[in-house]
Amino acid sequence: MYIQVALPVPLPRLFSYRPIEGRPLPLPGIRVQVPFGNQSQVGIVVSHGPEPDLDPAKIKPVKAYLDDAPLLSPSLWKLAQTASRYYFTPLGLVLPQMIPVKLRKGESAEPAPVTVWQLTPEGTETTLDTLKRAAQQQRIIAYLQAGKRLEEGQISALEFSRPALKALADKGLTETITEQPAIADGWDQDWQGGEEAPQLNPEQAIAVTAINQHDGFGCFLLDGVTGSGKTEVYLSVMAETLRKGQSVLVLVPEIGLTPQTIARFRRRFPLPMEVLHSAVNDSERLASWQRARAGGAAIVLGTRSALFTPLPSLGLIVIDEEHDASFKQQEGFRYHGRDLAVMRAQLENVPIVLGSATPALETLNNVQQGRYRHLTLTRRAGAGQPVRQILQDIRHLPLDAGLSPPLIQRIRQHLDDGNQVMLFLNRRGFAPALLCHECGHLHECNRCDAFYTVHQASNMVQCHHCGSQKRLPSQCPDCGSTQLFTRGVGTEQLEQALARLFPDAPAVRIDRDSTSRKGSLEAMLERIRSGEVKILVGTQMLAKGHHFPDVTLVGLLDVDSALFSADFRASERLAQLYTQVAGRSGRASKKGEVVLQTHQPEHPLLHQLLGAGYGAFAKDALTERQQAQLPPYWQLAVIRAEANQSHLAQGFLQQAKSLLPAGPVQMIGPMAAPLERKAGKFRFQALLLAPDRRTLQQTLEPWLARLPELESAKRCRWHLERDPQDLL
Ligand code: ADP
Ligand code: ZN
Ligand code: ZN
Repeated sequence: MYIQVALPVPLPRLFSYRPIEGRPLPLPGIRVQVPFGNQSQVGIVVSHGPEPDLDPAKIKPVKAYLDDAPLLSPSLWKLAQTASRYYFTPLGLVLPQMIPVKLRKGESAEPAPVTVWQLTPEGTETTLDTLKRAAQQQRIIAYLQAGKRLEEGQISALEFSRPALKALADKGLTETITEQPAIADGWDQDWQGGEEAPQLNPEQAIAVTAINQHDGFGCFLLDGVTGSGKTEVYLSVMAETLRKGQSVLVLVPEIGLTPQTIARFRRRFPLPMEVLHSAVNDSERLASWQRARAGGAAIVLGTRSALFTPLPSLGLIVIDEEHDASFKQQEGFRYHGRDLAVMRAQLENVPIVLGSATPALETLNNVQQGRYRHLTLTRRAGAGQPVRQILQDIRHLPLDAGLSPPLIQRIRQHLDDGNQVMLFLNRRGFAPALLCHECGHLHECNRCDAFYTVHQASNMVQCHHCGSQKRLPSQCPDCGSTQLFTRGVGTEQLEQALARLFPDAPAVRIDRDSTSRKGSLEAMLERIRSGEVKILVGTQMLAKGHHFPDVTLVGLLDVDSALFSADFRASERLAQLYTQVAGRSGRASKKGEVVLQTHQPEHPLLHQLLGAGYGAFAKDALTERQQAQLPPYWQLAVIRAEANQSHLAQGFLQQAKSLLPAGPVQMIGPMAAPLERKAGKFRFQALLLAPDRRTLQQTLEPWLARLPELESAKRCRWHLERDPQDLL
């Protein structure tokens, strides 16, 4: 009997090891330390069995068993298997993503024992006077004699000196003991207190009843604009679940997990809540995982990967802004957090609520097919008046940093009325290109097929595809001219122009550059809420779920690029962005305006969005997708290859294509990726389309198993992505 182990290597297979003699076989789900090549790896046991293909002498023994019991609950274990198959990703890449980083590295899954300092009998008797020449030691003894607890983790916060601690131990006045920390395995389901819930409006009440009355797995789309009271619905349904002693998993996009959101949940529920987002460090994550696994977490609120948190009595899953692209993991195990959360809900047999003002077309299709129940909130809580929409034709108009004179006029008006203005431009930096006026040379990244973006504030040019950067050149590398001009407008330039045009209206810019420091986004949002800032400039980062009641004018400076993108999802994204930002304007009692600047004022998509709204747009877009044989009707995967030379990447895909059986799965390509060269690598891709899941699964599984054998596969890097969100 051997043990089959999943290892974090990109090979679609398990690895056999010899169990440790004299010990019971480790159960599936237990971590093991094993030799791999000339390294040591942490793997997870998947099964036991004979190994007919290998010489028994070559099968190496396991070095150590790292757990006494499986790390994953039966339903999470099943989720791993399902996800591995669905995403054509080896278990060895799936499983590590489902556990905290520290566990991937082999640390103990049990809470670490803590060191506690305490007084010896001598220490209890001693008088502080005897230590008056050792002030540090005196402070420590005073602290302990006051009956307070001193743990290792508190020493620096209390500013106790280590030499003093050691001196006290040497004198026999203190001693240390190690204790297993107590982890709560429950909470009070009859909790008292917490902020009172408002009286629900009729639509909210219908939604809450529909979800509460449901038993077992069921998927609900809660469709309502920002401010329509979706969060209130979540809170109300959560209260019901928590009263039953069951916990709730809430997933939100990274940017939506602000201190305000967290505080709102905490105010409502005075219960243990684990918060997981990118700023939480590995130790904190492990501690959260341990508490949740023990049953001590009533609520887990987190971003994408929080979906794997173990919860022994999970009762409900909520996903806010379910359409958000940040739920998709873009590397390694390329899963969609929303879709896996639905699978988890199914495996755990609990309801799941997906909330959005602009549901993904996939989700709307599931509603149309009768798989999800559609609940709508049409009224904005508080506010009343619909937004005025203006399609601004900018053909022939002079633009100042992307702003047309009519838009400038409107900005002035809204500022004069004491309101805030929000402007969107989906391009960070100062300008997207640097051009030589003498010879026309455009500064290109030498590792990518892309122009450098000029960042004036840092005096650099930067490639937004590979991240490489260098000093802003003062001369053209081709002709030596110093006449270098920027082309196009980015948020940095827009911010400067606004300072010039509206010197009395403080502006703030929100994009990846301005918010890279931890806490800086929060500080900016606070300046906006307080009213100190009058103009908000940003990329789509600004579009997500923030409430700014004093914004009465929203401007989208350039919507044309999305109308002509090579990516079939671009129009859906534009429609979502537009609807989300239109929902930002004129909330309270003030009437809002939204301006779209375009060179394509006749474009049917724009007319439909403005005239009939997102729902109507989505309906037509779905029909188009169906006719074009695209997702969500057709199943899509993309196979990508990159190599140092373009023929290697292309050649691999060509060979792969020749292995694909003729039949219902179509392979379109290989073709060069829209960004053909990135970070020095040549990139090719091919689309795989099938009419249904089963066909895709059954055709690709055996096909993929053969690809690693191809000679050309060894000369490039390749991967397959199911349900790609981005085809660049
Ligand atoms: P969404 O999540 O859809 O953006 P929220 O639930 O945050 O909407 O609601 C927007 C605002 O309206 C919040 O300030 C919320 O407290 C308030 N609100 C929501 N529902 C009600 C209600 N039934 N009665 C009073 N205020 C409500
Ligand atoms: Zn030149
Ligand atoms: Zn580059």
